[in-house]
Order: sequence, then structure tokens, then C-alpha cells
Amino acid sequence: MPLHTYKCKYGHISEELYRQGDKVYGSIECEICSEVSYKELPMVASTPSKWGDSHGYFNRDLNCYIKNSQHHDQVLKEQGLVVTTKNNLMDQAQRKENWIKETDKKTAELKQMIATTPV
Ligand SMILES: [Zn+2]
Repeated sequence: MPLHTYKCKYGHISEELYRQGDKVYGSIECEICSEVSYKELPMVASTPSKWGDSHGYFNRDLNCYIKNSQHHDQVLKEQGLVVTTKNNLMDQAQRKENWIKETDKKTAELKQMIATTPV
């Protein structure tokens, strides 16, 4: 019997056990907060870079033949690309936030300098 995992926007995890032939829902109500809980992808689908390790495949996004996951990473690097993962997006958001903080600080310093400069 397949077990499906659902997760709401607050990170509450619910597990539903389905019998063969049961309709599998894409979303259910969270048992804890009653928000919409979405079905999580199975493990194999959440690790796309490990696909094709036993036999290569043609990657249409990269427009080339990929031999294995190391080759996939190498091609991404060569093309200056990054896999869109939650962590990568969080890192990017953090860098942007740091940049904004730094810019705000410089703006405040500049305003202070202008205010204290005699005309
Ligand atoms: Zn919840």
C-alpha cells in the first residue's frame, strides 16, 4: 500500500495510506491547522540530478546528452546555471536582503554626511 506525504504551508506533515486503486488526492486538509496540504513528490523525483546515473539521457533543457549526475553538474557549471532548489532560492534571497541592508546603510551614511555638511 503506497504511503503519500502531504505538507501544508506551515510545514505540518500528514501521511495518507492508499490502497491499490484508491484515488490519490493532490491536496488534503492539514490535520493540524486545516490549511491546504499538498502532496509531496516521491523521493526519486526530488533528486533529479541523480537521474540517469545508470544510463545517460538527452536533456532538452541543456540541449545535450548527459552521461551521469557528475556530468550534469559539470554541464550546469559550464553553462553558468544553477539547479533551482529551495536552498538555492533561499541563498539568493539572503544575498539580496544583505545587499539591500548594505545599500540602506550607505544611503543613511550619505544622508548624514549631507545633513552635516555646511553650505
Ligand atoms: Zn498545517
